[in-house]
Amino acid sequence: MTEAKKPIKRPRGKAQLSAERCIACGARCQSACPVDDCIEMDDGGSPIIDQSKCIGCVKCVKVCPAQAIDMFFTPEEQALLAQLLAERGGAPDGTDDPEARALARKLAEYRGVWVLVEQTEGEAAKVSWELLGKGRELADTLAVPLSALVIGADVEHLCTEAFAYGADTAYLVDAPAFRFYRTESYLKAVCQLVAKYRPEIILMGATGLGRDLAGAVATAVGTGLTADCTGLAIDDKRNLMQTRPAFGGNIMATIMCDRFRPQMATVRPHVMQMPEKGTGRSGTTIRETCELNEDDVLVKVLEIIGDRQTHSVDIGGADLIVSGGRGMMGKDNFALLQELADELGGVVGASRSVVDAGWMPQDRQVGQTGKTVRPKIYIACGISGAIQHLVGMQDSDVIIAINRDKDAPIFQVATYGIVGDVLTIVPAITSRLRDMKAGVAE
Ligand SMILES: Cc1cc2nc3c(=O)[nH]c(=O)nc-3n(C[C@H](O)[C@H](O)[C@H](O)COP(=O)(O)OP(=O)(O)OC[C@H]3O[C@@H](n4cnc5c(N)ncnc54)[C@H](O)[C@@H]3O)c2cc1C
Repeated sequence: MTEAKKPIKRPRGKAQLSAERCIACGARCQSACPVDDCIEMDDGGSPIIDQSKCIGCVKCVKVCPAQAIDMFFTPEEQALLAQLLAERGGAPDGTDDPEARALARKLAEYRGVWVLVEQTEGEAAKVSWELLGKGRELADTLAVPLSALVIGADVEHLCTEAFAYGADTAYLVDAPAFRFYRTESYLKAVCQLVAKYRPEIILMGATGLGRDLAGAVATAVGTGLTADCTGLAIDDKRNLMQTRPAFGGNIMATIMCDRFRPQMATVRPHVMQMPEKGTGRSGTTIRETCELNEDDVLVKVLEIIGDRQTHSVDIGGADLIVSGGRGMMGKDNFALLQELADELGGVVGASRSVVDAGWMPQDRQVGQTGKTVRPKIYIACGISGAIQHLVGMQDSDVIIAINRDKDAPIFQVATYGIVGDVLTIVPAITSRLRDMKAGVAE
């Protein structure tokens, strides 16, 4: 008689703080921790985690609004995790349950990570490359290929670009009927490819197009979709952990789609880091045709009205943003921010309070219900730093905060802080910049 193989015990890991991401949100991690004295707070409001007491329950990881806590695994534990991934291929822990085995078999039919390359008239949306960067990480963890999904007319060059940003394969649907985005035509193409190649993960930008298409595809193929994710990672059963703000941004929820494939997520522009464009990287282009009778597509594109015609400002793509909050005291004072932005070659953004008050248009709003931005410099003027605002700008390279309240939460994420009246400080900075440009000595 042979001895039954003992199931491998899944390592739980220990919580570990990433100090530079911590925003000292008010000890949420300490409150969530079920173990006495495992998490203490330092004078600055950041947690000190005693790893010898950590039981790996991940409660602190889940409540952290800034994703500043992660699980740490020793190299031995990492090897065990990799072994589990390889052995189980998606099966629940040590299962003898036939239903669970059938589910595991069904899930195992789906392999590979796909990213939709969103394009307008042959020009890719940057978010697609950002998603390829994240997709590369996910595909490497799962040890599967990363594929770009390129749909359009005369768009083959985007496959080459996708390879440069990390894709191994590109599925190309290139025909005049796909020149303009229409839900019906793109839905048909994506569903046809999903049925044929069965990817386990599909990522799309949380743009107008991505939001529309992802919802339609998820409904058609009968799977789940998590919109506006801010974090994506793989658990030890090959599931995609999709993190996004929930309950008005008061918690970060990690959502799983562990019974259906593909797992679908959208991510806003600038949330994921732009990967390096590799020169000389190549891949395999797989051409697919999708039979589409133009008469069957009810939506006809008559005219494209672009952003340039509506004079909207793209704060999402700006390198420098001077953003104003309720502390600006009134609509007219935004002229001060515009002057500073003009001197620095930037654009003006705003908090939601400002947009709600009608001081600035909605397309300038930064934050959870506005845009996610990642400029080189973000200057927050009279903005308190509510979590819903922080999630939209905390990944900026340099954050300069001006606020008369020295305890304002914005200072927790600021690289440089100025405590004082914004209506005095901003004009002073603008004037100094003008002097410097004019070559006026001190
Ligand atoms: C579901 C949901 C989604 C949301 N989405 C967003 C979002 O996308 N973006 C967003 O921004 N908010 C969002 N909010 C709102 C958010 O919770 C805050 O209410 C908002 O960000 C506050 O804006 P504020 O910082 O401009 O105003 P306040 O919180 O009122 O802060 C004003 C700040 O100005 C300072 N101040 C006042 N006068 C001066 C002065 N003369 N000089 C210097 N400083 C001064 C004050 O000290 C204060 O810190 C959302 C809320 C919810 C519930």
